[in-house]
Amino acid sequence: MIPIAKPLMGEEEADAARRVILSGWITQGPEVAAFEKEFAAFVGASHACAVSNCTTALHLALLAAGVGPSDEVITVSHSFIATANAVRYCGATPVFIDVDARTFNMDPALIEQAITARTRAILCVHQIGMPCDLAAIIAIGKRYGLPVIEDAACAIGTEIRWNGVWERIGKPHADIACFSFHPRKIASTGDGGMITTANAEWDQKFRLLRQHAMSVPDTVRHGSSAVIFESYPELGYNYRMTDIQAAVGREQLKRLPAIIKQRRALAEEYTQRLAGIPGLGLPYEPDYARSNWQSYCVRLPAKADQRAVMQSMLDAGVSTRRGIMCSHREGAYSGHSLRHSLKQSELVQDRCVLIPLYSQMTSAELGQVVDALRVACTA
Ligand SMILES: *Cc1c(COP(=O)(O)O)cnc(C)c1O
Repeated sequence: MIPIAKPLMGEEEADAARRVILSGWITQGPEVAAFEKEFAAFVGASHACAVSNCTTALHLALLAAGVGPSDEVITVSHSFIATANAVRYCGATPVFIDVDARTFNMDPALIEQAITARTRAILCVHQIGMPCDLAAIIAIGKRYGLPVIEDAACAIGTEIRWNGVWERIGKPHADIACFSFHPRKIASTGDGGMITTANAEWDQKFRLLRQHAMSVPDTVRHGSSAVIFESYPELGYNYRMTDIQAAVGREQLKRLPAIIKQRRALAEEYTQRLAGIPGLGLPYEPDYARSNWQSYCVRLPAKADQRAVMQSMLDAGVSTRRGIMCSHREGAYSGHSLRHSLKQSELVQDRCVLIPLYSQMTSAELGQVVDALRVACTA
């Protein structure tokens, strides 16, 4: 059976976890601090704050941007449901706009008409590792004084051409970027998240809120020779990453350049070998983008039935997933009124299939996927 994804972990990660477990300091401590420093260096950010996952990262990012009850945040429905949910955690309303049919990312041409007096931020997504049109989105954000937050859950190591230079997502190019270390992403800590920003005040806010808004962190009290009483000046959360996770993440960071190189090579091989399947739509990488290929997404030929193709491939030992979900179609959004057409978002969900891609994948396995897809599409 060829799985849809497979985390690349080895003895190094296992040793790192063991080292922390035996160290006497288990949760957010020196390993988290080191992981943050190394991640910041990897993406070129001035500040990186580790949290429990990308959903909590998005929540804190929106809070720092000032999003609160009765506010609106312009975002996409066509994303993992956590994107829209994070807006609702703030008591605000996600205002969904459609995606570009080729990149599956927020269509910047649709933002302005969605702005109202209540709009407080723009939350864009780098879907399945493909960067969205950040330059266009940021220009609109600037014009209207709206902070732009990047949901970069899938985009660790993805690059964007910025003023003629290739830079990693997360610098960040907008105001805040949020990453995920869930096993379905390209590097994992089991669960985990990271928030990057150039705004020192916001970074301080993330650090406060992730640990119950505790005025003096436990690490500082532990190392103090004088007695310290901490206080809790505002409502905080427990969004900590553990030191066990961070130690694993540091090992994953070392592997990332090789992981990305491998994924790019596999994606290129897919693109070459799938070109012969009539009517099959292949991924589009804009000239400003270098994806990390968190997922490889194909659009099925007009006559092919999505479920039948996926079943045929499963029968051939190949696991697939349907196109990225649309949050507005889920029960959790049944009471949500839509203001804008989401036609492309729905089409992409209904007509696309994600096929297996993981760095350990062999050429033979890739060939098995290609054959299974060809048979399924021409059946
Ligand atoms: C995976 C994902 C998330 C959620 O990440 P977690 O770390 O699992 O909370 C959010 N947004 C997008 C686009 C994702 O793909």
